[in-house]
Amino acid sequence: MAKLTVKDLDLKGKKVLVRVDFNVPLQDGVITNDNRITAALPTIKYISEQGGRAILFSHLGRVKEEADKAGKSLAPVAKNLSRKLDKEVVFVPETRGVKLEAAIHSLNDGDVLLVENTRFEDVNGKKESKNDPELGKYWASLGDDIFVNDAFGTAHRAHASNVGISANVSKAAAGFLLENEINYIQEAVDKPVRPFVAILGGSKVSDKIGVIENLLKKADKVIIGGGMTYTFYKAQGIEIGDSLVEEDKLKIAKDLLEKAGSKLILPIDSKEANSFAEYTEMKDTQTEAVDKGFLGLDIGPKSISKFAGEIKGAKTVVWNGPMGVFENPDFQAGTIGVMDAIIAQPEVKSIIGGGDSAAAAINLGRADKFSWISTGGGASMELLEGKTLPGLQALTEK
Ligand code: AMP
Repeated sequence: MAKLTVKDLDLKGKKVLVRVDFNVPLQDGVITNDNRITAALPTIKYISEQGGRAILFSHLGRVKEEADKAGKSLAPVAKNLSRKLDKEVVFVPETRGVKLEAAIHSLNDGDVLLVENTRFEDVNGKKESKNDPELGKYWASLGDDIFVNDAFGTAHRAHASNVGISANVSKAAAGFLLENEINYIQEAVDKPVRPFVAILGGSKVSDKIGVIENLLKKADKVIIGGGMTYTFYKAQGIEIGDSLVEEDKLKIAKDLLEKAGSKLILPIDSKEANSFAEYTEMKDTQTEAVDKGFLGLDIGPKSISKFAGEIKGAKTVVWNGPMGVFENPDFQAGTIGVMDAIIAQPEVKSIIGGGDSAAAAINLGRADKFSWISTGGGASMELLEGKTLPGLQALTEK
């Protein structure tokens, strides 16, 4: 990695500013999934073990006005983190001011402090989200001139708590999570061990045009499944029944098919049903065409075999987007089939690009079989599109 990492820093006795991603789902003050807290532990533990005084910043949800602050405090996160670290986490329910400054002043080597939700600063003029120069400078002034960014999930945004702080310290470094995310995803795209197969699914072509275009340049094969399939089918004049389609993307789909030639691989059959939720009939289509009055809701068995054949021998696989409506057991077979084909490859570097595919791998019990599951849907999509992430760019070169 070309940027400084936390291992390059002298941390002992230093007030270390750290941006983490604690944007966890909360229901009535209870954290319903704490994977993001777990993912930040190695960096926090390392700083603490090295004798640094970790001052943690994170956002939680969106805060536009005073009323939005309700239920968005990081207080429950501090408790959860304290349990995980098995040590006290000083929580300061402020984002600036004397209380926060005094609490930081009282820290000892190895201590951990969590600042209140950075987006509370958005109430008066979106200071956090618009990277207000005064705010970045103020937060930077709370530490000893060093900053660690470990929040991959927000690295595609230029906010005061990542880019703003970085601009006001001498050394801004990547934490372990950010470093891993970049190494796995960027290396897979830019320096893949070949054959490199990209698999893209999910509902909409419009969300993934940039990713498809970039991966067509980089990968040896680009496999498409999920709801996106039917826009590509319709662009070729294939009957799609009532399947999901984006009429305004038919031209782009046609252009992509022409440009890509045999590199772009589409399903050859579907599992179709006569309604999305209240279906009374369900069958395999046998050919590409979906029957009138039916919707394609998963790839069919022939496509699963075809895709498994295309994945065979792959040394790098990047997968983003389920092959069907995987939330419903009737339409999970495609996503499971593709996952099993990926993980069956010996020596494969298998990467899941966040979002719904990560949820599918976790819910369908295959998460531990992949080399890397990204923690940031939006940020990983931007990396796959070949874009530069502002949060990463702002870090100090080695
Ligand atoms: P995305 O957020 O674009 O990755 O899309 C994920 C969603 O796409 C999941 O909720 C799936 O249920 C949905 N999906 C996948 N295949 C289909 C399909 N054939 N028709 C409708 N929705 C689909």
